[in-house]
Amino acid sequence: MPLLIERHTEPRDVVCGGFLAADAIATLARIGIDIFALGAHPIGRTRLVAGRRRAEAELPFAAAGLSRNRLDASLLGQAISRGVAVERGVAIRRIDPAARCVDLADGTRIAGEALFLATGKHDLRGASRPAPLDADPALGLRVRLRPSPALAAALTGTIELHLFRRGYAGLLLQEDGGVNLCLSVAQSRLKAAGGQPDRLIALLTEEAPLLAERFGAAAEVGGWSSIARIPYGWRSTQAAPGLFRLGDQAAVIASLAGDGIAIGLASAVRAAHSFLRDGPEAAASFQAEVAGHTRRPVALASLLRHWGETPWIAGPLIGLLERVPALLRQAAAMTRIGAG
Ligand SMILES: Cc1cc2nc3c(=O)[nH]c(=O)nc-3n(C[C@H](O)[C@H](O)[C@H](O)COP(=O)(O)OP(=O)(O)OC[C@H]3O[C@@H](n4cnc5c(N)ncnc54)[C@H](O)[C@@H]3O)c2cc1C
Repeated sequence: MPLLIERHTEPRDVVCGGFLAADAIATLARIGIDIFALGAHPIGRTRLVAGRRRAEAELPFAAAGLSRNRLDASLLGQAISRGVAVERGVAIRRIDPAARCVDLADGTRIAGEALFLATGKHDLRGASRPAPLDADPALGLRVRLRPSPALAAALTGTIELHLFRRGYAGLLLQEDGGVNLCLSVAQSRLKAAGGQPDRLIALLTEEAPLLAERFGAAAEVGGWSSIARIPYGWRSTQAAPGLFRLGDQAAVIASLAGDGIAIGLASAVRAAHSFLRDGPEAAASFQAEVAGHTRRPVALASLLRHWGETPWIAGPLIGLLERVPALLRQAAAMTRIGAG
């Protein structure tokens, strides 16, 4: 019987933009989760903002905004209803791929026929990813805003992305009418703001005036969550026998693309099929397949991130996209991973 070990006792709002595109929506539907029945906010448009320039286009696919709290709770509920044993509030301290064992924080050792590693951005001793090569790596920040009526109207049906030097921010409406504001920003920029996200946004008034205006228009601002040292662009190309790396443990796509959840879902579905068909030894071929499948979207998303975070490229680029919105639709389509 599958055993799922989750260190938190309750689903929480993790650092994530909460944007789901058609590929993620389709995979969720296939495993029995209708995100619109969960109240997801439908999104059909994208708005890109750099300085005082803006470009808008219809998205070439259906998309939606859903809080990770709601999504993760639904995924866990679905797993339990399919007979998965779930242990919550238990952290794994170490993984031993050769012995196919995990060591829990309370000292218990659990062995399995195969291990499915899905700890996201968090590394486990025994299967850590290399540290990001970037001397000033990105960190993620997320907060929930209660919008004013004008802010809610501006974001209805829209994902809004704000580009600035060494970072970007995404805003969308979620199922509860709240706004999810998520930033990916170089560590040094937060440090220059004294480690305070509110101050960082105030300091961005010149570079990202509309973002500062949106933030200032919020009727209420919740507490910030953060995650450090994001290894954007990393992909796992090899795996130990019996170890299937899923989601961010398989490939970390730049969050600007909004396709990390789709990679998580697609890799999990693929891993389950590989294991059921060929057993634990299928891990190596599974990992090579996922690495191949994610190569192009991950590389393209990294390039778009670099352009978006470099003002002398981003400004003229938004000017071009304003004149030719079809290019924006094309870029959005090309970073998709496809349904699992
Ligand atoms: C700033 C930012 C914005 C983003 N926006 C989007 C977006 O809008 N749309 C999108 O599709 N993707 C987005 N992403 C990417 C997306 O959040 C990730 O790709 C996705 O969450 C990866 O899923 P996962 O299952 O691999 O990991 P996670 O969702 O991080 O899940 C990992 C789970 O493992 C548990 N865990 C961790 N360590 C342990 C341990 N030691 N023991 C037990 N349990 C453990 C955690 O509690 C968690 O529940 C964004 C990322 C960032 C950084």
